[in-house]
Amino acid sequence: MRVCILGGGLCGLVAALQLSKSSEVTILERDGDPGGCLSSYQIGGAWVERFYHHCFAGDSHLLSLLSEIGLSDRLEWLKGTTGSFADGKIYPLNTPLEILRYPYLSALDKARLALFTMRARRQKLEDLDTVTARAFIVDRLGEKIYTQFFRPLLMSKFGDREDEVSAGWLISRVAIRSNRGLSGEYLGYLKGGFHLLIERLAEIAGRQGCVIETGTPATRMERKDGGWVVNGTRYDQVLSTIPPQEVTRIGGPELPAIPYQGAACMTLGLDRDITAGVYWLNMKDPAPYGAVVSHTNFIPPERYGGRILYLASYFQGKMEPDLPQRMSDDFCSRFGVAPESIRWKKMAVEPFAGPVYITGYRNHIPAYEQGGLFLAGMFSLPNYPERSMEGSIVSGTEVARRMEEAITHG
Ligand SMILES: Cc1cc2nc3c(=O)[nH]c(=O)nc-3n(C[C@H](O)[C@H](O)[C@H](O)COP(=O)(O)OP(=O)(O)OC[C@H]3O[C@@H](n4cnc5c(N)ncnc54)[C@H](O)[C@@H]3O)c2cc1C
Repeated sequence: MRVCILGGGLCGLVAALQLSKSSEVTILERDGDPGGCLSSYQIGGAWVERFYHHCFAGDSHLLSLLSEIGLSDRLEWLKGTTGSFADGKIYPLNTPLEILRYPYLSALDKARLALFTMRARRQKLEDLDTVTARAFIVDRLGEKIYTQFFRPLLMSKFGDREDEVSAGWLISRVAIRSNRGLSGEYLGYLKGGFHLLIERLAEIAGRQGCVIETGTPATRMERKDGGWVVNGTRYDQVLSTIPPQEVTRIGGPELPAIPYQGAACMTLGLDRDITAGVYWLNMKDPAPYGAVVSHTNFIPPERYGGRILYLASYFQGKMEPDLPQRMSDDFCSRFGVAPESIRWKKMAVEPFAGPVYITGYRNHIPAYEQGGLFLAGMFSLPNYPERSMEGSIVSGTEVARRMEEAITHG
C-alpha cells in the first residue's frame, strides 16, 4: 500500500508512526522542517518552540506517546505562573492573597468567580456549543465580570470575533486552568524542548521506511482509480492534516470551510526578566499582542544562557504587514526595554494557527473519512473545543487505525 500524508505536523507524524509499520508512507511537508505549529528554532545550542508550548497533567495520550518513544524521562513539571497587565501594572494572580489584592473585581465578584470556576469542570461542553461565551457569562456572572475579566481574555485570543465564540470553548479553558492547588499550577515541558518529540517521531517513522519530503507543498490532487494522484504521484490512500479548505482548493473533495485564525508570535532574546517572575501575562490593556509569555519564568534561563520571551498575537484573515514592528515598538515603550538590549528577535507567522470556536462549530467538524479522503488534525473532534498537542495525537492515532481497517476490509 502506498500512503501519502499531507502535512508533517504532530498529527501527520503520529499517523506516520503507525502507518509506516505496514505501508509505504510519504509525507509531503510545505515547510523546510517537520513540526508545523510545534516546530522550533535552534538558538545557540538550545531548541526553542516557534510558538510557546506546555502540556497538562490530563494529556494522557501525549504522556503515553512520550513513554512509547522513550522520552518520558525528559518530561518535567514546573510552576507556570499567570498574571494580568492592567493600567500599566503587572498583577500576579496565583496565590489567594494576590487574587484578593487584584483591584478590578470586588471581593464578592471574586467569590462568585471562584465558585463558577470550580463548577466549570462539571459542565457538559457539547451543550454549550450553541451559546456565546458572552451570553453565558453575562447571564451567570453579570456584565462587570464579563467586561473586566473574560472579555480581555477572549479579545486577546480571538480579536473582534470575541462575541462569536462559544461558551464551550471558554468553559473548557476555565476547567483546564482550575486544576491547580494553593501553590499554583504545574505545567509540563520536555527538557530540551518539544523539538525532541518531533525529531524522535520523524526518526522512528524514517527507520520504518517513511519518507518526509520537506519544502514540498501539496499543490494538486485528483481522485483516480480508487486512489489519489498528488503532485503527479499515485497513492492508494491519502491522509490530509492540512486545513479542509486548503485540501478542497488543491482538488480534494468539497469540504465545509473551518473558521481559522492566524498567529503572529515574536520571540525575543533578552538579558533580564520583564514580567516580574510571571510566566503568562495577559494584557488587559489594549496592545498589539494579547499576552506576554516569559518562557524563562517557566523554564530556568540558565538552560539558554539568557531570557526568552514571546509576544503572542492572533489575527483574522491576513496579517497586517506592520504588525511585527508595532508589536516590538509597543513592547519596548510599554515595558521600558531599550531596543538595542534585545539580543535577538524571531518572528513566526502561521495563517492557519487554530480554529475559531464560534457557536455551532461542532457541526463543521469533518469526519475522519470523506469523499474517499482521510482527514485529521487540529480541526478534528479530539481537538474540540481547543486544539492541542493531545488532540492532534489522538486524531492522528484514530485516523491511522481507520486507514488500517479500510485496508483490511478492502
Ligand atoms: C501559538 C500557539 C500556541 C500553542 N500552544 C500550545 C500549548 O501550549 N499546548 C498544546 O498542547 N498545544 C498548543 N498549541 C497547539 C498545537 O501546536 C497544535 O494543536 C498541534 O501542533 C497541531 O498539529 P497538527 O499536525 O494537527 O497541525 P499543524 O501543526 O498545523 O500541521 C500541519 C502541517 O501541514 C503543513 N502544510 C500546510 N499546508 C500544506 C500543503 N499544502 N502541503 C503540505 N504540507 C502543508 C504545515 O506546514 C504543517 O507542518 C499551540 C499552537 C499555537 C499556534
